[in-house]
Amino acid sequence: MNIINSVPSLRENLKEEREKGLTIGFVPTMGYLHEGHLSLIKKAKESSDIVVLSIYVNPTQFGPNEDFDAYPRDIERDVQLAVDNQVDYLFHPTSETMYPIGTGMSVSVSERVDQLCGSKRPGHFDGVATVLTKFFNIIQPDKVFFGLKDAQQVAVVEGLIRHFHFPVELVACPTMRENDGLAKSSRNVKLNHDERAEAPTLYKGLQQGFLEFKKGEHDPRQLEQVILHYFKEHLKHGVVDYVQALSYPELAINVPVKNKVILACAIQYENARLIDNIIIDIDQPFVGE
Ligand code: AMP
Repeated sequence: MNIINSVPSLRENLKEEREKGLTIGFVPTMGYLHEGHLSLIKKAKESSDIVVLSIYVNPTQFGPNEDFDAYPRDIERDVQLAVDNQVDYLFHPTSETMYPIGTGMSVSVSERVDQLCGSKRPGHFDGVATVLTKFFNIIQPDKVFFGLKDAQQVAVVEGLIRHFHFPVELVACPTMRENDGLAKSSRNVKLNHDERAEAPTLYKGLQQGFLEFKKGEHDPRQLEQVILHYFKEHLKHGVVDYVQALSYPELAINVPVKNKVILACAIQYENARLIDNIIIDIDQPFVGE
């Protein structure tokens, strides 16, 4: 595996790979790798000749009171996991590399960001779209792999690719979970013992909404109430940031739900804000996640 920190070096290497006719799959991450990330790498390996993994905690997608400094990092462990999972190139840039002349230009996102994390984390998706624009230009991948754990991110990136004509195919991958249902996340290590014991409640609450949907309740506001009620009964440590049922991927609140509906929540614990979701395909509600 090649570990690369500079843009010219990565460009040069990938140019050679492309000249050999090889396709490039790209997996962007903030590191502290877990099985969710590894599932994306695996998917990338299955459908691309060369896999580029980026590990970069992007400051512009964190708000002033968020956990940028405290975000878990362990590059040595990540390097070993990347090697074990046959990553070809690990791109691990500094902020001087990613923002060589500062932050004077950025991508502004106004679509699909009014709800969920977009409304709670102003500027977050501008930061995500900006750093991905840089990565897409540097790496020029054929495919890029994202987890549906961050379903709003998938929706925004789908828009980014279409708005800016990036010649890249987005591949959305299912959420990997612990045995008790908790979605795997780098932030889970920030939970204390009691919070960790409670955290599977996020998925259980969303499943209550899904169950109600299968019973025939398709009114998004009612589904939200069912989930909120479950959280009220079962959360002692976590505080609800939002519970929403929306159309997906449009993330619209007041339009009739057509093809897919997302049940999503964010719960704030002392040192970690956790998110989770279930996306229901209305035509096939019994094969939802
Ligand atoms: P992050 O390092 O948290 O920015 O995540 C990098 C990528 O991994 C994103 O596309 C995430 O959606 C994806 N990811 C994070 N957690 C999971 C999970 N539990 N299952 C599947 N993909 C995930």
